[in-house]
Amino acid sequence: MASRKRTLLKVIVLGDSGVGKTSLMNQYVNKKFSQQYKATIGADFLTKELLIDEKLVTLQIWDTAGQERFQSLGGAFYRGADCCVLVYDVNVGRTFETMDNWHDEFLKHASPSDPTKFPFILLGNKVDVDDGNSRAISEKKANDWCVSRSNIPYFETSAKNDYNVDDAFHSVAKIALHHE
Ligand code: GDP
Ligand code: MG
Repeated sequence: MASRKRTLLKVIVLGDSGVGKTSLMNQYVNKKFSQQYKATIGADFLTKELLIDEKLVTLQIWDTAGQERFQSLGGAFYRGADCCVLVYDVNVGRTFETMDNWHDEFLKHASPSDPTKFPFILLGNKVDVDDGNSRAISEKKANDWCVSRSNIPYFETSAKNDYNVDDAFHSVAKIALHHE
């Protein structure tokens, strides 16, 4: 019988405070959503096992608090990452404007062997919020940014409605595995 080697993939989730990083992880791994805002999560990371191209993969998804600075988290936290998930809130423009910083800061501190090939993914979260004029960042604007950053994949998600969350993290696992 062919033995299946388990592959551990380290994923770092970054973005401003309140965009839904913890909620997305919690929806993906635990299938739960809470309206309540909790600045911190009990665990530093959540894990999820999945099959990618018949390969057993363990995603280790690390949560961060947006207000924390990279310096305080330390480079060791980012090193060895196989994928970086950038999250913003499609209804709050300034959470998108900081994407360049998060992207560049990650590369600076994770110092991957080839920064131009390091896999990022962008999630535009809270697309369920629809009161007519809440949307601040169009899908096109986000896509244009992704293209300008060497074709980062983009997903619009809702942690609340569980929209696109599985697909987004499945894609994370795929590109992380490809990079690993
Ligand atoms: P974090 O600081 O990035 O980890 O953000 P949280 O996951 O703590 O979420 C911040 C707030 O936004 C909480 O009140 C969540 O319930 C809410 N939230 C997160 N994701 C969504 C979403 O997709 N839609 C809506 N409507 N609210 C969300
Ligand atoms: Mg959080």
